[in-house]
Amino acid sequence: MKTLQNYIGAQWTDSVCKETLDVVNPATGDVMARVPFGPETSADVDTAVQAAQAAYLEWKAVPVLRRIQPLFKFKQLLEENREELAKMITQECGKTLAESIGELQRAIENVEVASAAPMLMQSEFLENIATGIDEYMIRQPLGVTACIAPFNFPAMISFWFLPYAIACGNSMIIKPSEKVPMTMVKIFELIDQLELPKGLLNMVHGGKDSVDAILDHPLIKSVSFVGSTPVAKYIYARATANGKRVQAQGGAKNPVVVLPDADVEMTSQIITDSVFGCAGQRCLAASVVITVDESEKIRESLYESAKARAVGYGLNKGVEMGPVISPESKSRIEHLIGKGVQEGGSVLLDGRNTKIADYERGNFIQPTILENLPLGGELIKTEIFGPVMTLLHMKTVDDAIQFINGGAYGNMACLFTSSGSSARKFRHEAMAGNIGINIGIAAPMAQFPFSGWKESFFGDLHGQGKHAIEFFTQTKVVVERWPKEWSRKF
Ligand code: NAD
Repeated sequence: MKTLQNYIGAQWTDSVCKETLDVVNPATGDVMARVPFGPETSADVDTAVQAAQAAYLEWKAVPVLRRIQPLFKFKQLLEENREELAKMITQECGKTLAESIGELQRAIENVEVASAAPMLMQSEFLENIATGIDEYMIRQPLGVTACIAPFNFPAMISFWFLPYAIACGNSMIIKPSEKVPMTMVKIFELIDQLELPKGLLNMVHGGKDSVDAILDHPLIKSVSFVGSTPVAKYIYARATANGKRVQAQGGAKNPVVVLPDADVEMTSQIITDSVFGCAGQRCLAASVVITVDESEKIRESLYESAKARAVGYGLNKGVEMGPVISPESKSRIEHLIGKGVQEGGSVLLDGRNTKIADYERGNFIQPTILENLPLGGELIKTEIFGPVMTLLHMKTVDDAIQFINGGAYGNMACLFTSSGSSARKFRHEAMAGNIGINIGIAAPMAQFPFSGWKESFFGDLHGQGKHAIEFFTQTKVVVERWPKEWSRKF
């Protein structure tokens, strides 16, 4: 069984750590590879940082127009290898092939947007701030940067950061999730063809040990993290205490509100896609569906749509939902469904104890719908991160907004309606960083920041777009005087 290598200084190298974890296909239960995982991975981080620092010193002097050239080849390679990469995402992460292809598309779009760095890095200039004195601002890179990624988008999430970091003149170390490291290995096989300065992009495997080494390393200037809220908080606290710039995106519990004037059929289709797409393992998955006033028609329609979802191995044709990432995750989700029942909820559709023919070792849960959960209970606040919809009913849109704003997370909130004024009110009042109006997954495109509020985000600048350019540069303001008397007369 192959043990995955790190990519450091443009070389594939064995980790100094000999302890490993299995990388397991969540649908078949087959072990696909082993990934280095243990305290000694921290030594790999230091080796990568030394390589990245040397590359940064060279790269920061390269004009931005030349720095973006490798991105064009990168886009082409990603497109040429889209099918193969998508297959790998499905094999190690479990989502369907169509979902994996969609994920890659979002990754590629970030490469495209980052190639606008020569425009996006432009800054401000004010002539004559005082007589004969001008002032302007320039953007310079930070140095060695790091990205720590979660399991649920093995390719896309690193692309919220990676292309911007290098276009702005930084080097980067990527630490993929130990649960899904193989997609990033394939992506680094493409990066290897870009002829970047050695050490500009590095990949180091591991878990908490390699993360801690990143958080503490004095030469690492910034950390871009995406994952669960407790880890995001920890990363933010430790890395900022060490003087680093940090953007840490956390977990979610996303509400969607359905008003009685919403189109029932379209709404229930979009909501079930949102809740059950990627088996509910998306940070923008709808989780709590709140019907306002009229609820019976939408309840029935959601039930039918959820029940009809075809569950199986994501590589197989016709499959609409794959497994969850691990046996631990499956039993955690099933336990949470049980907890909902203990708290007084009822199960409208029960996806527990699922077995899929030919995939008995897979971590499958069928779509599940819970109702009547008490608002004061624990489950209504807990991120389930699985294919579970919670149905709530409220009297008014104000009640729904109040409920949303009282929640700990603020990743996304959506409204389904045909009323412009209700939509406008919701957009204005709902406290979440990404708002959807008749949209189930309000995922910002690469041109926009991947926003998130409250416990869903720690930091100031998000991933993607102009925020990423700001995050990966530090501003320098120059005040300049050129007295006329010093000029040679021509
Ligand atoms: P996770 O927090 O368990 O792991 C994320 C990364 O942190 C991994 O690389 C992991 O190795 C590392 N890590 C885990 N525990 C650590 C610890 N104790 N100390 C240091 N590092 C540690 O998250 P996950 O399970 O891989 O991903 C799912 C979570 O990510 C969900 O909560 C989901 O909502 C969230 N997520 C958020 C966004 C967003 O944009 N807000 C996007 C995707 C996923």
